[in-house]
Amino acid sequence: MRVMSSKSEEIFERSKEHLVGGVNSPVRAFGAVGGTPRVIERAKGCMLTDVDGKNYIDYVLSWGPLVLGHAHPAVLKAVREAVDRGTTFGAPTKEELALAELIKSAHPSIERIRFVSSGTEAAMTALRLARGVTGRKYIVKFSGCYHGHTDSLLVSAGSGLATFGAASSAGVPNEVANLTCVVPYNDPKRFQELMKHDGNRIAAVIVEPVAGNMGLVLPDKQFLVMLRAETVRYKALLIFDEVISGFRIGWGGAENLFSIKPDLACLGKIIGGGFPAGAVGGKAEYMEHLSPVGNVYQAGTLSGNPVAMAAGRATLEWLKKENPYPLLEEMTKELVSEIRRITAESGFLAMINQIASMFTVFCTTTPVKNFQDAQKSDTGRYAELFHALLEEGIYFPPSQFETCFLSTAHAKQDIKATARAFEHAVENVLQKK
Ligand SMILES: *Cc1c(COP(=O)(O)O)cnc(C)c1O
Repeated sequence: MRVMSSKSEEIFERSKEHLVGGVNSPVRAFGAVGGTPRVIERAKGCMLTDVDGKNYIDYVLSWGPLVLGHAHPAVLKAVREAVDRGTTFGAPTKEELALAELIKSAHPSIERIRFVSSGTEAAMTALRLARGVTGRKYIVKFSGCYHGHTDSLLVSAGSGLATFGAASSAGVPNEVANLTCVVPYNDPKRFQELMKHDGNRIAAVIVEPVAGNMGLVLPDKQFLVMLRAETVRYKALLIFDEVISGFRIGWGGAENLFSIKPDLACLGKIIGGGFPAGAVGGKAEYMEHLSPVGNVYQAGTLSGNPVAMAAGRATLEWLKKENPYPLLEEMTKELVSEIRRITAESGFLAMINQIASMFTVFCTTTPVKNFQDAQKSDTGRYAELFHALLEEGIYFPPSQFETCFLSTAHAKQDIKATARAFEHAVENVLQKK
């Protein structure tokens, strides 16, 4: 019998006999970086603790939701009170109204909301709604943007200049993939060409206004302004997928930062305060095509779950009251400038993108403005960096194409400790060569 070197390894090996790949979401399996995932026992503030009792300063934060860090007291209190009242009713509650009001106070584009249970469901609903409203069937998305795993959006650019996409997953019929056009991010020319040709057949253009799923890639403001103008021109709906950027890059997300109103917005992650929740929102005129008012069907047994709504409400109320965004940004900039100094001085090749409390260390030498740029990264080098950081007690995402997050629980001393650990990690990686 093989001797297991850690409890994480032991549990993960057993899990593989029961859970597909030992996980319930693929990136958790460390496939892109190798090695054994850490099995997590508990977490508090910015600290994760694994089943072997090792602590890590967490820059994944459950992939974005935990802007207040793990187990925030205000969120736990709201959750405990909600649970005591009962966990689900399948009927209207005050909690969902309160969260809807908070979201509307941040996102002026949103007049009506439908809560769902995940970001995937939000994007899926937004597409069906856009198709129902416009009576058109084609969708436009951008390479490297991720909108969850609904069929129409598991599509990547076709070969050459082909506009219509190819399925990026087995099980997605080409008939479905062919209804999605994929164009490069931050490339106005390619988008305008597409619209000139097919604009009148496009139901919706869906975009991450700040892209966080190819690593962090920032939009040119002019690109977003152009998307708004072109979608108006061709009467296609503009969908901002703010599942990551919503309540992350600031109160009101990208819509507020760039002063652009989409027709529909998708939210998730932070609005559930660490519980499963997503939302689609937008102009009443469009949203009221959804059942029970309109004829676009959508439903959910646990939609607007009162415990998730309470957690989301507590999170948003805290954000609104405390406005931690300037401090979050300052701390993130401090860490990123340390990382830039360390990589420059040591000769570790890296480009770092950052906005608000999000950043990605790309192991590449050229600026990253779209998916093609991101793919130039040395993923083997990133894997080495990732493991060296893990050794130092720093938990970065186990893939080059993901984003690091800070929370309000990350204190100055955590940033300093991370910078020191980063310096050691880089030394270790470079020594191995
Ligand atoms: C995470 C994410 C989703 C999917 O949300 P799930 O809750 O994982 O289904 C959709 N869009 C964006 C931009 C995301 O970051």
